[in-house]
Amino acid sequence: MSDCLFCKIVDGSIPSTKVYEDDHVLAFMDIMPLTKGHTLLIPKKHHENVYDMSSEEAGQLFSVAPKLAEALKSAFQPAGLNLLNNNGAPAGQSVFHFHLHFIPRYDQTDGFKASWLTKEKQYTNEMFSEYADKIRANLTK
Ligand code: 5GP
Ligand code: ZN
Repeated sequence: MSDCLFCKIVDGSIPSTKVYEDDHVLAFMDIMPLTKGHTLLIPKKHHENVYDMSSEEAGQLFSVAPKLAEALKSAFQPAGLNLLNNNGAPAGQSVFHFHLHFIPRYDQTDGFKASWLTKEKQYTNEMFSEYADKIRANLTK
């Protein structure tokens, strides 16, 4: 897509610091890293978000995840690693070409914060069953 930042990174018209590339995917350093080693993995073909990807394309992308995770682990010995993918502006997506963040974690003050306010008291097993039925009925891909 001509006006997409990450498509321009794929075609080389915008420079990036590449980490890995094959026929289908490219991994490069995030220009505004949260932590040391923060890397983005993208499909070379333009897909706005996860809804826009086939199982095959998602498989090609995710098949690289263990290799990249191992490389980050060996390179920087982080205490942990978050894989993060934002879909849609309300979920925090700011570049609308699918990307999976690899964020090595070092400690609680490393700059990554996600609040995880669970609401288990508001839900029952009946509600979980109802939601699962609804999701199953919509599994089409
Ligand atoms: P999102 O907020 O969409 O999940 O993440 C977009 C990511 O792209 C951000 O972490 C941001 O730092 C990164 N980013 C934005 N522009 C550029 C760029 O020009 N080059 C690189 N390498 N990363 C970018
Ligand atoms: Zn694109």
